Amino acid sequence: MKIEIDTHSHTLVSGHAYNTLREMAHMAAEKRFKGLAITEHAPKMPGSVGLYYFQNLRIVPREMYGISLLLGVELNIMDAEGTIDLPDHVVEGLDISIASVHTPCFAGERTKEVITQAYVSTMKKDCVDIIGHPDDGRFPVNYDRLVRTAKETGTLLEVNNTSLSPVGFRANTKDNVKEMLEYCKKYEAMVVLGTDAHVDTAIGEYQYAMEALKETDFPEELVANTSLEKLRACLKRSR
Ligand SMILES: [Zn+2]
Ligand SMILES: [Zn+2]
Repeated sequence: MKIEIDTHSHTLVSGHAYNTLREMAHMAAEKRFKGLAITEHAPKMPGSVGLYYFQNLRIVPREMYGISLLLGVELNIMDAEGTIDLPDHVVEGLDISIASVHTPCFAGERTKEVITQAYVSTMKKDCVDIIGHPDDGRFPVNYDRLVRTAKETGTLLEVNNTSLSPVGFRANTKDNVKEMLEYCKKYEAMVVLGTDAHVDTAIGEYQYAMEALKETDFPEELVANTSLEKLRACLKRSR
């Protein structure tokens, strides 16, 4: 299976990543990818950028070193109501959006019911394309309900390579990802493979995500980012 575009990466402006936008684009081109999504942390993540950064992304070229850039955001899911930390109309103006639960930002209780409800509420938003790393045992999820809602709303679920790697800090990720993938097969829900690269060398490195797909015998047709066109067609914003 070949992945043409990495859907999840961060640059210096996210506050805890280490390369510029140009360096990230250059590495993606060197690794023969056709595209790269740069998805900076939204404003509530400590150390990240503010509203104007996202509003002004329109001035940045969408092609560099011969590859396509999708410039977007990784939103913070703030509570069980699915509150996100940028206005919907700003997110709609970007090329791609991920929404994720992060420890410094999530205000709700960390029970399976509350976390699942938070994801379900978030997926009902038209401006949210992808749920990022719903694999963290510290934020337990009802995967049956998560995947059914993803299918109903046309939201993509992410298999996050960083979560699965030995440097990952999230809990019980491998078993959680495999459970999610089994339900994706059952309901024919689409996934994306994201590296969540915070440094240029991590772009396009999918070793652990690929292992999880192999171990669950996951069908390639349910992976959205095997081509740039397929990915674009799978984003809610292209409807
Ligand atoms: Zn994240
Ligand atoms: Zn991220």
